[in-house]
Amino acid sequence: MNAVNEIKNRQIVHWFRNDQRVSDHEIISNMNKFDSLTTFYVHADKYDKNHALGFPWISENRKAFLNDSLLELASHLKFLGIEFRQFNSVKELISSGLLIGKTLTYQRIYSMEEQKQELEVIQHHNEQVFTFDGFTLVDNANLPFELHKIPQVFTAFKNKIEKYGAFNKCVALPNLPTNALTFAQKGGENYGLSRLKYYLQDTDLIANYKQTRNGMLGTDYSSRFSPWLALGNLSARTIAYYIYQYEKDVNANESTYWLIFELLWRDFFQLNLRVHQNKFFKKGGIQEKQGKWRTTDSIFWKWANGETGDELVDANMRELNTTAWMSNRGRQNVASYLIHDLGIDWRLGAAYLESKLIDYDPASNWGNWMYIAGVGHDPRPFRKFDTVGQADRYDPSRNYRDLWLK
Ligand SMILES: Cc1cc2nc3c(=O)[nH]c(=O)nc-3n(C[C@H](O)[C@H](O)[C@H](O)COP(=O)(O)OP(=O)(O)OC[C@H]3O[C@@H](n4cnc5c(N)ncnc54)[C@H](O)[C@@H]3O)c2cc1C
Repeated sequence: MNAVNEIKNRQIVHWFRNDQRVSDHEIISNMNKFDSLTTFYVHADKYDKNHALGFPWISENRKAFLNDSLLELASHLKFLGIEFRQFNSVKELISSGLLIGKTLTYQRIYSMEEQKQELEVIQHHNEQVFTFDGFTLVDNANLPFELHKIPQVFTAFKNKIEKYGAFNKCVALPNLPTNALTFAQKGGENYGLSRLKYYLQDTDLIANYKQTRNGMLGTDYSSRFSPWLALGNLSARTIAYYIYQYEKDVNANESTYWLIFELLWRDFFQLNLRVHQNKFFKKGGIQEKQGKWRTTDSIFWKWANGETGDELVDANMRELNTTAWMSNRGRQNVASYLIHDLGIDWRLGAAYLESKLIDYDPASNWGNWMYIAGVGHDPRPFRKFDTVGQADRYDPSRNYRDLWLK
């Protein structure tokens, strides 16, 4: 990250994007260095738009999670005496005059629509623009290779990072809450930090993560950090700091290692998005392959509504439609089924999960879909899951399927 000391005009207007927190934050944690600080958020262009197949690009559950996050952010900022405004569009922002005469700061996002929005904002801004990359564990500056030479297979990437890379340091480490909130799928830093405390310090669930992470039932088989990571309510570097702290104070085992390992998968997709950009969202993916997928509406809707007849797929889609959540095991199976059993264009599935998942993140969602479709980073050409075998293995008692199929 460039140092905030490089900012010349110290009247700052900060644009919150997927950095919705006040602790461990490049700008807010440095607020005393500025002459003035005001902040804002702009809703996505597609906030109220529908996909061509009729579903909203952002479901009500996703909107509610985002809204909770923005409400909490607003209240934290008010407490700090920092103005926070929300705009429905870039046009509204520009005509407010908020940017005039100030240095604009924001965290970079590398996906297509977010970059388009960024261009719209900066083309109207004549003052200094200061950007930073706070979303990942490892930033461009700490990579042991040039970004465009990033290994295209995850294991090679991970090995290089583990051997020669360095994780980002927290800007200002947040304390974990003494009175942690009980688990709820609600956006905001308080819920995110409470979950971190719960998963590590209160329950030691992390100590068995590797054994439980393929579960589907309940809320404790995996960390559930992803929704808060997606909006930046939690930073990946804060999570890593507390995992290492846990390893020092309590226990270091293959499960504590594995949670960092999974966070590196997240970095792998985020960093690759910076390199491949729009290809993440194209039919042929980063491999620019020709595909033979169908776009038949009726088959797609059977899948989306959980009415295919495949028990594991239907149970997972019904869970998603009801709760805005699905396990990683579920996501892999429903994606494989849509692509390889039904032969449907993978981008329709990716768009549907984008609409529904409260942890939606462009790089993780589209990167994983590409991977399973065989047009992404998977060294294997074909990744098909046997959904019946998977159900037997991961839901042997049928408890998960019975819960959602009744
Ligand atoms: C088809 C498909 C779509 C997906 N869409 C998204 C998405 O929109 N947003 C999202 O955050 N993740 C997505 N994932 C990745 C993964 O399923 C979720 O990150 C994970 O299930 C979130 O639950 P958790 O926080 O309990 O994960 P844990 O198992 O506790 O893992 C800890 C963290 O590691 C990261 N992580 C774990 N697995 C992956 C992975 N395969 N790819 C990238 N990061 C990973 C996440 O940040 C996660 O919070 C998708 C996976 C698939 C197969």
